[in-house]
Amino acid sequence: MVEAVIALGSNVGDRQANLNKAVRLLGTAGNVTAVSSTYETEPMYLEDQPWFLNAVVAIDTRLAPRDLLRAVQSAEAMLGRKRNVRYGPRTIDLDILFYDGLVLSEPGLELPHPKLAERLFVLVPLAEIRPGLAHPVLGVTISELVTALKANEKTVRKVGVLGAP
Ligand code: AMP
Repeated sequence: MVEAVIALGSNVGDRQANLNKAVRLLGTAGNVTAVSSTYETEPMYLEDQPWFLNAVVAIDTRLAPRDLLRAVQSAEAMLGRKRNVRYGPRTIDLDILFYDGLVLSEPGLELPHPKLAERLFVLVPLAEIRPGLAHPVLGVTISELVTALKANEKTVRKVGVLGAP
C-alpha cells in the first residue's frame, strides 16, 4: 500500500460540487485518508479567468503510478474536463503530487509533481493535511516550502512619479 497525494482544482460550473465528485471518484482508486479544506485561489499563469477552488487529498492505494495516472485522468474525463487552453478554465484538474517518496521523470508522468513548490494554491491545502511531509528531491518539508514561498513574494509599491523628460 502506498500513500498518494492528489491536488484538485476547479474554476468552471459548481466548483464545490466538482471537487466533491472528484473526491468520490478518487475513492475508487484507493482509500481516501485525508481531505483538506477547500481554498479559493487567484489564477496563476493565465490570470484572466475565474478564481479556482482548490483542495488536496491523500489516498492509500494499491495502483501502480501509471495506473493511478490513468485513474485520475478518467476521473477528469468523467467530470467533463476538456483539454484545450493550457492553464485555462477547467471543470476539474487532478495532479498527482506525491506517490510515497517515489522520484520519477518519464514522458507524461513526473513525481513529485514538478510545479508543486511554486504553487501556494497546492502548498497551503497540502500543509493542512501533511505539514511534515518531506519533499524527496528538495529535502525540505511542506511547511518549509510554504514559508519559503511566502517569504519570496516580492512587494511592488508605488512611491511616486518621475518628472517628464
Ligand atoms: P494538466 O493539463 O495540467 O492536467 O496536465 C496533464 C498532463 O501532465 C498529462 O499529460 C500528464 O501526463 C502530465 N503529468 C506529468 N506528471 C503528472 C503528475 N504528477 N500528475 C498528473 N499529471 C502529470
